[in-house]
Amino acid sequence: MKPTIEEIESHLRQTGPREMKDLWNRADAVRKENVGDAVHLRGLLEISNTCVRACAYCGLSRENTRLQRYRMTAEEIFDCLSRIVSFGYGTVVMQAGEDYGIEADWLAGIIRQIRQTTPLAVTLSMGERPFEELKRWRQAGADRYLLRFETSDPDLYRRIHPARQGQTADRRKILNQLRDLGYEVGSGVMIGLPGQTFRSLARDIELFGRMDLDMVGVGPYIPNPDTPLGSGRLRPKIDPAEQVPNTEQMAYQVIALTRLVCPEANIPSTTALATINRDSGRERGLSRGANVVMPNVTPLRYRQLYEIYPGKACLNETAEVCRGCLAERIAALGRHIGTGPGSRIRRAATP
Ligand code: SAM
Repeated sequence: MKPTIEEIESHLRQTGPREMKDLWNRADAVRKENVGDAVHLRGLLEISNTCVRACAYCGLSRENTRLQRYRMTAEEIFDCLSRIVSFGYGTVVMQAGEDYGIEADWLAGIIRQIRQTTPLAVTLSMGERPFEELKRWRQAGADRYLLRFETSDPDLYRRIHPARQGQTADRRKILNQLRDLGYEVGSGVMIGLPGQTFRSLARDIELFGRMDLDMVGVGPYIPNPDTPLGSGRLRPKIDPAEQVPNTEQMAYQVIALTRLVCPEANIPSTTALATINRDSGRERGLSRGANVVMPNVTPLRYRQLYEIYPGKACLNETAEVCRGCLAERIAALGRHIGTGPGSRIRRAATP
């Protein structure tokens, strides 16, 4: 039986080593039983850091005038794709700010070419693009789409994620559209956002299960001083006893609970986790429910500029170095690198 909101909240409030150990063991057993020992590697390509949004937490916000902007050319993208194929990764994840300079037809052409000339599955993470564009990309062959709903608390969401003028910012509605279009759907939240309560985080996790997500990305919120939330200029009011901490342990608690509510989902051990613990963050995530890693294949000159938050892990390692480092870390855990696209596999009828 999946845990209720009350049970999830109670787990989130626990801090004792014995309770933690029990939770890690349960999550690891559910992971093993449902998705096995394979760790799927997805090549992450950050194709543009240009963004029309003004999210209060994110360094790519259009309000951040310090950041030098880039957009990769088709030629640069295909250069990276050949690397992804040669490394044996089964998926390319193309991520960007919400950048309308990335025209829908241009990206559709790239997706079509990837599908025709490589064995790669295509995951997109392009923000809140209109339905017609999401449809065009799906028809061109895109398999999956990632769009975190960031928090299910409507007041907090409105404060940190302003809508574009004259529009609504309804990520849940877009996630439903993606599902209707036949995408594998991924979502998730940041952990420890200022103003995030234990109750609202428990609701987020329970919602992952009800949405029957195929992929769930969760990671600690890391303050970026060049943003209103990270600089402290925006301070959502909250009882300090209710504030979720953005700690490493809390991130593992959320990964583990996510595995319990979404046993079949693909769950990455994220870069944000590797950033707060460079030595073993990724491995601990993988031992506590995660089964995916997204090694960065963005050219180094652009990777430095995709500055969502400062101090990101693996900023200076080439794609080749990342591949070798991850292979060693995964083998040391007694796990193996997954082959093929690594799509969600449904084991049983889900509610
Ligand atoms: N534009 C796309 C979107 O909004 O979904 C993709 C790019 S966006 C930068 C990817 C994710 O980065 C967001 O969904 C958010 O959860 C995460 N992110 C942004 N700022 C962050 C921060 N300060 N700490 C941790 N994660 C952050």
